[in-house]
Amino acid sequence: MLLRRNIRAEALADTNNPVQTSFQFLERSSILFVMLESALTHLECPECGRKFNADRVQNFCEDCRSPLLARYDLTRVAASVTRTQIAARPRGLWRWAELLPVRKEKFRLTLGEGDTPLLPAPRPGKTLKIKHLFIKDESPNPTGSFKARGLCVAVARALELGRREFVIPTAGNAGGALAFYAARGGAEAHVFMPKDAPRTNQEEVRAAGADLRLVDGLISDAARLAAEAAKGKRWFDVSTFKEPYRAEGKKTMGLELAESFGWELPDVVIYPTGGGTGLVGMWKAFAELEALGWIGPKRPRMVAVQADGCAPVVRAFQNGAERIETWQNAHTLAAGLRVPNAFADRLILRALRESGGTALAVSDAEILEAQREMAQAEGLLACPEGAATLAGLRHLVKNGWVRPDETVVLFNTGTGLKYI
Ligand SMILES: *Cc1c(COP(=O)(O)O)cnc(C)c1O
Ligand SMILES: [Zn+2]
Repeated sequence: MLLRRNIRAEALADTNNPVQTSFQFLERSSILFVMLESALTHLECPECGRKFNADRVQNFCEDCRSPLLARYDLTRVAASVTRTQIAARPRGLWRWAELLPVRKEKFRLTLGEGDTPLLPAPRPGKTLKIKHLFIKDESPNPTGSFKARGLCVAVARALELGRREFVIPTAGNAGGALAFYAARGGAEAHVFMPKDAPRTNQEEVRAAGADLRLVDGLISDAARLAAEAAKGKRWFDVSTFKEPYRAEGKKTMGLELAESFGWELPDVVIYPTGGGTGLVGMWKAFAELEALGWIGPKRPRMVAVQADGCAPVVRAFQNGAERIETWQNAHTLAAGLRVPNAFADRLILRALRESGGTALAVSDAEILEAQREMAQAEGLLACPEGAATLAGLRHLVKNGWVRPDETVVLFNTGTGLKYI
């Protein structure tokens, strides 16, 4: 297995032997062949402003202990492509290639991620008296969660920069996504996961042939053990925000949202927040779209929902703090929200505040109730994290924070099937 993988990885890196991507296939077979060029220019630390070379493997700014953000030549993008042209491309997140970091087409791995449905949710909307309620349903993504978007792009870019072996601490879904994108790219993956993470997450990692290490503890303990195990090895660490490109993959949710709403963003976006990759990624996407002239200045109010057994972002938001403090004894059935600390805490809190948004916690009982309602009233088996957004909306409607005439989007971040 190891040998075969390495041979595939070499082939991918050193020859023009292209890895099969459906996008590529579709492009070759279309009459209008266009080379899509990434407009990536550099990476930047949002705290000290230092610039980093984007064509080298980078993790984060050591001085600030801050994530790095990818920067693009947006003037060039605006001059070279229109939003209508992007809309006409084959489905999937690589149709936004100019705004993503992978330069060569042959590294744009795909398992069919992105372009998920934006479903109207009229029945819960009626109960809550919200006229325009939608669910951005991420469950059709490969590996059943939106983690596919982030790991797809992060693995693709790391392969392009010559890395062949990956390590990740995970609450569950990110490990599954890494394992499958590594398999797709002919690379190796080492996955450190709490031993009480959902069984499906454990089994999917094994099924993809990755190295699964079960940890007695939480994702934070998994991170410590992963770092120890990685010492002295060429394992590339794709922990949340400890490399710049998972956020770029998740940014595509924001791009899709803008497009789906006819380039006018909704009023409120409710997002189940763990490490905050999607929240920060979407916030970044909106800024890029405005710089391109593709949307105006209107932004949604961004809402972070967490579980009351692990709500460090909510606590920091309510205290007016700039950083979050590690949550002790984190527990919730929403495994993806069992994240006691967030490396991107400053960016998460800034996005919430700049948007005029808020943060709130819901109980596991409320999550289960909302999950039942989504299933029975809308035919959608949401993951507990996704159901938490509906539970959160109930509070926000009750206390008048969301008004009946507003357009609201809930993020269902994965399929409930993974938790059965
Ligand atoms: C990881 C995860 C989350 C949290 O996502 P972040 O972008 O890291 O905040 C939410 N829901 C599910 C299903 C997840 O797997
Ligand atoms: Zn810095």
